[in-house]
Amino acid sequence: MQYVSTRGAAPKLSFEDVTLTGLASDGGLYIPESWPSFSASEIAAMRGLPYAEIAARVMHRFVGDSLSFEELRELTGEAYGRFAHAAVVPLTQLDERHWLMELFHGPTLAFKDVALQLLGLFFERFLARRGEQLTLVGATSGDTGSAAIDAVAGREGVEIFMLHPQGRISDVQRRQMTTVRAPNVHNIAISGSFDDGQAAVKRMFTDPALKGKLQLGAVNSINWARLMAQVVYYFTSALQLGAPDRPVAFSVPTGNFGDVFAGYVAAQMGLPVAKLVVATNINDILHRALSDGDYSAGEVTPTAAPSMDIQVSSNFERLLFDCGGRDGNALADQMRAFEVSKAMRLTNAQREGASGLFTSVRADQDAMAHTMRRAFQYCGEVIDPHTAIGLHAAHEVDLSPDIPVVTLATAHPAKFRDAVERATGTRPALPARVGDLFAREEHFTELEGDYDQLVDFITTNAVQGR
Ligand SMILES: *Cc1c(COP(=O)(O)O)cnc(C)c1O
Repeated sequence: MQYVSTRGAAPKLSFEDVTLTGLASDGGLYIPESWPSFSASEIAAMRGLPYAEIAARVMHRFVGDSLSFEELRELTGEAYGRFAHAAVVPLTQLDERHWLMELFHGPTLAFKDVALQLLGLFFERFLARRGEQLTLVGATSGDTGSAAIDAVAGREGVEIFMLHPQGRISDVQRRQMTTVRAPNVHNIAISGSFDDGQAAVKRMFTDPALKGKLQLGAVNSINWARLMAQVVYYFTSALQLGAPDRPVAFSVPTGNFGDVFAGYVAAQMGLPVAKLVVATNINDILHRALSDGDYSAGEVTPTAAPSMDIQVSSNFERLLFDCGGRDGNALADQMRAFEVSKAMRLTNAQREGASGLFTSVRADQDAMAHTMRRAFQYCGEVIDPHTAIGLHAAHEVDLSPDIPVVTLATAHPAKFRDAVERATGTRPALPARVGDLFAREEHFTELEGDYDQLVDFITTNAVQGR
């Protein structure tokens, strides 16, 4: 399996190289050269298998020669053995047609653990084999940072610099990052928004001055391996609800478009996905793009669902590439124009390509709070604000009533205790696995977010190359 850049001008890479690379050298994102696929009988044969086994079967198609099936199976067993639930990603039924897919049983209470626990093991394995070191740089709207730090703290060969927008993430999210004491972990609080942090990180990957000094790696969902690991739970949940004989729809609380893009990949591989509902909060660039082709970034408005407070969704580029005829040169022009003007129209091919599988729903604060209350009142389920936005969208979307709808429960409600308590009157308890989070000392550096200052901090503090 080879990977190509969405902007057409970077070299093709293997899975191992793609995992250790951030952005492609032409500023694009790596994507498989073609989609592997399963027959209906191959999908049916996965029914009832353990999560780690299905994970290895689904992902091995993308890994090529970089890992044998047995090596991959060993790593999925190790990564998913760390989850607090034996099913890893269990389904909970809400009513006759709605389910929640609980993605928050990992160490840091959000779905990002599912991919990052495995990615940490890939880094360690590949770097040891090559005798290399990697400096990870990332920007977080809250959950990526904690999941990535947990996955790499204290590991050989890697160090991590994580930027978060100061004051715009929950106290649990911040403490899960800043209380980790490991010499290879560096937290930076910047004055701007998540989008500002993400723009700086993207620039680092194409900055020749930095490239000469450090081998940079990505933990954001620009890293293909993250999306790949997320494809798996679309398979495991659809299998439980009758796939491949019965189509299933998914409603996905969306920010950077990584999680829902993994659903699109599952569909390309032959999983019968009836619809993918892109659920956004009032930061609704994706809703506008999918409903009328208008991809124009406004200001980010902070909400109670901070992991969705995003205006520029990196992974949307992968969809535009795949739906728009895989023309890297044309997409490079389109994206460069967007980077200047912060606005673009989708082409007709992109709109038509996306409309078959995707639909979108926007939820405001009232809809989110109402859905949290309703889930508690009618089903006894305490859900987090992100999940509530997904569940609201699942109820709004127009689908044939015989299609089951799975809402991705992307975070544990205790991660957003204040918002949950405001909406439901119940304060969810932190699970025991987070330990004495509020007793531990915090460590982070405050920076303005100015690009040169950030680069200077990273090059000064990186161990790699010394
Ligand atoms: C990251 C995150 C999202 C958004 O996922 P994307 O892959 O960025 O679209 C939604 N909910 C929670 C809780 C998250 O942590």
